[in-house]
Amino acid sequence: MVKTSFPKGVHPPEEKDRTSNIPITDLPLPEKILIPLSQHLGKPAKATKGRGDTVTVGERIGEADGFISAHVHSPVSGKIKKLVQLPLPGGRMGEYMEIEVDKEATEAFSFPEKEFDLENATQETVAQALKEAGIVGMGGATFPANVKFTPPKGKTLDSLIINGAECEPYLTCDHRMMLEHAAEIMAAIRILHKAYAFEQILVGIEENKSDAAQALKEEADKYQDLPIQVITTKVKYPQGAEKMLIQALTGRIVPMGKLPLEVGAVVSNVQTVYAMYEAFYREKPLIERVLTVTGDGIAEPKNIRAPLGTPIAKLYEFCGGMKSEPRKMIAGGPMMGIALPTIDYSVMKGSSGYLLFDRPSVPEEGPCIMCGRCVQACPMNLVPLRIAALAKAEQYADAKEYDATSCVECGACAYGCPAKIRLVAWIRYAKNFINIRGL
Ligand code: SF4
Ligand code: SF4
Repeated sequence: MVKTSFPKGVHPPEEKDRTSNIPITDLPLPEKILIPLSQHLGKPAKATKGRGDTVTVGERIGEADGFISAHVHSPVSGKIKKLVQLPLPGGRMGEYMEIEVDKEATEAFSFPEKEFDLENATQETVAQALKEAGIVGMGGATFPANVKFTPPKGKTLDSLIINGAECEPYLTCDHRMMLEHAAEIMAAIRILHKAYAFEQILVGIEENKSDAAQALKEEADKYQDLPIQVITTKVKYPQGAEKMLIQALTGRIVPMGKLPLEVGAVVSNVQTVYAMYEAFYREKPLIERVLTVTGDGIAEPKNIRAPLGTPIAKLYEFCGGMKSEPRKMIAGGPMMGIALPTIDYSVMKGSSGYLLFDRPSVPEEGPCIMCGRCVQACPMNLVPLRIAALAKAEQYADAKEYDATSCVECGACAYGCPAKIRLVAWIRYAKNFINIRGL
């Protein structure tokens, strides 16, 4: 196992000790779930069920609307009480389905394991199974997996990159998934390889999770026919960003504004690969996920398996409640996550964790002192201070000239900024305007 990395980046404190040794526990079924129809990148799914309808576990309740979209399935059996418009993390409004849970029927339901027809696995059957199961990238990007695994004509995917980096501080759900589900992850990789005949399969794991790397390596050793390597990377943020991981593991550089496909690579997070296992071997759609609830504001931090649509208040309750009124709440990790103004949100396909902090929120911005730290940190070789200044001056066309749209919003620039300038927020603002104005 080699230790490798990408140029630049930052080293925030890891803060993973609270939960890295805590096994995944199942959340008791909530009385109701509030499941959004927009849990993925692209167009929201269209509701296929309405108020008063009964649903069973795994039934499709939302239909993908277009190419970049994903189906949504019910994680429970029960009755649909209403469809409502509520805020999604980030502020956009979205449609939610409220389902009253029939606990008995939900608990009685199961997805028995089936034989998978490995010999006849093709790119089409794999992509179709991913689409049917509504699988999207569970590392946070939420890009529909079937689209990622459907290369356009003339393009080939020669490298499968399995993302076990989990570089965001505090989060440990992927770490636990690798430790507890290495066999299932490898079984899904085997099917992907059968369909795509990859030249190389590289599993990237940061060296602070050497036990997980060992677990996957032991499983990988059972598949002598796979061109697979488990590679330990240095601990550096944002090691888990797709382009950085590809560079660290293969040396290939994805050109500005292009996708990993451009260099023949497809990247999948370990938890997404586990969801593929469930789709292939149990025909189980994506209806639950594992996430980390942690931070100094929560009584008993945990790694929890929860149905999608679970109100996050239920997660906090399961973790012994909040120690006090939290002063900051984040969906996701502290670097790329989204600050939540209230607890009125639900678990979604891309929810890797919820962090509660008992300390003051965002500090005042000071003037830029031109120290250049943000430039030194940016793994995309951008000039964050310049793009942020152009965004503040509403000069969006100029911000585009400075490649604002190539920003992966990793937050490495803002992390070390002594003036506490909200660089990512300004750059995101510029990106939105560039998109809205079709620049
Ligand atoms: S400019 Fe974007 S890509 Fe570069 S460090 Fe900042 S957030 Fe990350
Ligand atoms: S790190 Fe902050 S203060 Fe330093 S150059 Fe960048 S924006 Fe300015």
